[in-house]
Amino acid sequence: GLLTMVGTLTIWGYGGTLVLTSHGQALTVGALIAFLSYAGRFYEPVNQLAHMNDQLQVASTSAERVFEILDARPDIADREDAVTLKDPRGEIEFDRLYFAYGDNDPVLKDLTFTIHPGEMVGVVGPSGSGKTTLINLLCRFYEVTQGAIRLDGIDLRDIAVHSLRQNVGVVLQEPYLFQGTIAENIAYGRPDATQEEMLRATEAAYALDIILKEPDGFDTLVGERGIRLSGGQKQRLSIARAILKNPKVLILDEATSAVDSETEDKIRRALESLVENRTTIAIAHRLSTLRHASRIAVLSKGELLELGTIEELLALDGLFARHWTKQMTTASKPGDKAAVDAPLEKIARLTPQHTTLRTNDG
Ligand code: ADP
Repeated sequence: GLLTMVGTLTIWGYGGTLVLTSHGQALTVGALIAFLSYAGRFYEPVNQLAHMNDQLQVASTSAERVFEILDARPDIADREDAVTLKDPRGEIEFDRLYFAYGDNDPVLKDLTFTIHPGEMVGVVGPSGSGKTTLINLLCRFYEVTQGAIRLDGIDLRDIAVHSLRQNVGVVLQEPYLFQGTIAENIAYGRPDATQEEMLRATEAAYALDIILKEPDGFDTLVGERGIRLSGGQKQRLSIARAILKNPKVLILDEATSAVDSETEDKIRRALESLVENRTTIAIAHRLSTLRHASRIAVLSKGELLELGTIEELLALDGLFARHWTKQMTTASKPGDKAAVDAPLEKIARLTPQHTTLRTNDG
């Protein structure tokens, strides 16, 4: 930079003096200007060469990061003799399950219960009680510390990760949509799906209106993280994605965010068609969802406090019953919808006083 500036000044100084002193004999004004413009063109590529090193440095750092990711070995690896699931029934068994993140205190303690094929079990509990952790373990994002989780009697650690995740579908509170078309987002779990299959899945998820409303239909771009869609629309598309994938085991993390009642109704019906014929574990925040569950597991501080049908839990008169009745009595009139749909966590924030383990499975 300095050299080009000094160069230009020198040309102005020396050339200018020459033009003035010789009255244009030794050098004309035109020649001086031409010289300056040629010099400028010469400096340009020299400048580019100087900046090339910067670009090379940036590229090599980026390449290093890309290779770091490509070379990363996942913590969860298949065993050599890992089995591939073939049409599983969907029975899930937690057997004296303990889990701790790293060297911390265990967040799940001595969890033992079985979910039968096709059953829907609602999981409730105050926040921090280990609901998300339970789901992380079921997807095998972490290995259990002690005890085991079995799918159809096979320890998750003996199942090939790819095969396990193909048979487990997850619908999250905050559905993840990526930049692309609606079709690409729905077919994410099954890229080979036909147009007709996609249409059926979208219909079953009560999401056809989203597609019909857009001039580009399935080819509508959803924007980065689905920014162009509302929360309710994103949820229904993620349900369509799960229906298309057709997993035997479904994990449902119910959204806490409020949506208008019409959307709520659509999502509820979409979920009903989703859970049909699947083993479902639902982290439920609304009691109205729990009514659909065949059994409810109440977690507190990582322990299974209560397990049973709504009627059994009410008869037990424990943590669940107290909150259920509280919710009912706080409703201004019997069956008040707002109270029934209030996020359970708000009510269950109190720490339970009793810690006796009372479950169906003894
Ligand atoms: P819930 O879903 O019921 O709110 P979580 O399973 O998220 O509960 O959390 C249970 C406990 O585990 C909490 O005490 C939380 O702080 C802890 N925990 C959750 N995730 C991690 C993590 N990645 N590392 C360490 N501790 C965690």
